[in-house]
Amino acid sequence: MDLSEIGHLGLLEEAEPPFGAYRYRIGPQNPMARYGVCEVCCRPVQALYFQAEERYFSREEGWTGYHCSRLYGHDKCLRAMRKPAREDRAL
Ligand SMILES: [Zn+2]
Repeated sequence: MDLSEIGHLGLLEEAEPPFGAYRYRIGPQNPMARYGVCEVCCRPVQALYFQAEERYFSREEGWTGYHCSRLYGHDKCLRAMRKPAREDRAL
């Protein structure tokens, strides 16, 4: 194997997230939507946010929502619910 090939493989390796890694998408919801309470702390919400959790499985499957949370609530509460980047947990 020549050096240029090793360099190329190394680059691919770095580009792939580790198995079981989590990522989060969060954003404010339409202000006209009135859901009332935060799903995390159960208190009234003035500015409602939605957070979708996704987990990385493999190159083929990519990021999926399998066994992942989808929550509405306070921006601060949703961020507090995030998991560490890697967590050992049975699927
Ligand atoms: Zn809350």
